[in-house]
Amino acid sequence: MIGLLKNIFVQKCPRCRQGELFVSSAYNLKSFTKMNEKCDCCGLKYEMEPSFFYGALYVSYALQVALFITVFVAINVLAPDAPASWFITGVVLSIIVFYPLVMRWSRSIWVHIFVKYDPEYKCKVKHQHSH
Ligand SMILES: [Zn+2]
Repeated sequence: MIGLLKNIFVQKCPRCRQGELFVSSAYNLKSFTKMNEKCDCCGLKYEMEPSFFYGALYVSYALQVALFITVFVAINVLAPDAPASWFITGVVLSIIVFYPLVMRWSRSIWVHIFVKYDPEYKCKVKHQHSH
């Protein structure tokens, strides 16, 4: 379970846990949602069917709500007498700052729902030439 969560967090291939899901870093604003077509290591095709990742939108809503609640509770605990404007600013800022990560984690979670880890798949080129 820990391995799964860590793998979702670092956005690696769900099957071999070695290849990268995304082309560039989360704060490369031009291409933060650009995914590799296939895993470099095991060859898993990430977008299993057309519009596969539309479903990840539901995951991203859930993550946004979780983020919203976290920020709200954090402000409440740290500054119990804070005016309403603090809450609005805090929530808006956190949504902007975490937006790229939320988008990527939601896709990472989504693909991990459908593909199980298989330790048989290793980062070896010879696997791909054996068929
Ligand atoms: Zn892989």
